[in-house]
Amino acid sequence: MKGAAVFPGERKLSLVADVPEPILQTPTSVKLRVLQVGICGTDREIASFLFGTPPEGFPYLVMGHEGFAEVVETGPEVSTLKPGDLVIPTVRRPCADPACTACQHGRPDFCLTGLYREHGILGMHGFMTEFVVDDARYMRLTPPSIRDVAVLVEPLTIAEKAFIQAEQVQMRLPWNQTGSTPRAVVLGAGPVGLLGAMALRIRGCEVTVYSREREPDPRIDIIRGIGANYVSALDSTPEQMAAALGNIDLIYEATGATRLAFAAMNILGRNGILILTGVPGAHGPEPIDLGALITNMTLKNQCLLATVNAGNDAFDRAIADLTAFCQKWPAAVRGLITGRFKLDQFETPINSSSGIKNIIEMAS
Ligand code: BGC
Repeated sequence: MKGAAVFPGERKLSLVADVPEPILQTPTSVKLRVLQVGICGTDREIASFLFGTPPEGFPYLVMGHEGFAEVVETGPEVSTLKPGDLVIPTVRRPCADPACTACQHGRPDFCLTGLYREHGILGMHGFMTEFVVDDARYMRLTPPSIRDVAVLVEPLTIAEKAFIQAEQVQMRLPWNQTGSTPRAVVLGAGPVGLLGAMALRIRGCEVTVYSREREPDPRIDIIRGIGANYVSALDSTPEQMAAALGNIDLIYEATGATRLAFAAMNILGRNGILILTGVPGAHGPEPIDLGALITNMTLKNQCLLATVNAGNDAFDRAIADLTAFCQKWPAAVRGLITGRFKLDQFETPINSSSGIKNIIEMAS
């Protein structure tokens, strides 16, 4: 079967014609026909050979971790899925260490050893291929009503995992449970930021997105379409934005830019929470007044929460939320997918970051 692959040893990308077609190997496995795969910044970093590890014995890694697929075959012990069902496969698989309580509890997104594997990223082939076999327990059932945008579920899970945790942390403020409207700022208008803004809006937050675009821009149309505010970094500093807004309860950092992430600490309000999701890598030292930072954080009861990957709870909430977004803001949700490519064109969207979300159409 065909697969879009990276060869880290040879530092090249290539379509592979003879990826071995997987077969059901355990009674609880399912075979999937991949329908669509999204492309994100992580794929671009893998394609730049910054990371990405092939499975053992392979010189290449089939790319793609934002998958959407149809079940075509099920093992004899699978009772939860049947051929024809639509699913989102989760990304991360547990480590084998029995002492890893997170993986033992089905939460490899909190793996303690770092020996987890990830489809299309670390030690396991990804979804940019025709068929995939994996255990049924890693599949999240998806309603046919969101078929055309279901590929957005995985990037939305990043926000959902973050907000599930933020809700738990902010339970420390009992009056927050009494119907007040939290004020949230989203930094960055990429797919992770825009989907995060939608998830915050649907929970009733007042949302402002801060990013580098200036009107007219389709991203800003989407932001306004979901009832959020937009402030351009070309017109206001983060501090000017914050002064105009009032106390900021939550900041969702979705740019991965190191300076902006720390500037966010300066504008976060009292009792606020800053959520980091980026993986910017080492960029060399930055001057920073640590004393001022710590004093500010302490005197304002602030929390810094960094989060990666997502568990089944976040996937299920993402599927439910995306269904709700489609009902409430159909044009805004569809506007997120700006480029559709065939498998043999996969290098084009991976090598360019134009548009909002680019996807590979594998099958219909
Ligand atoms: C993926 C996560 C993954 C992370 C680190 C992100 O792009 O969405 O599932 O855990 O990269 O590999």
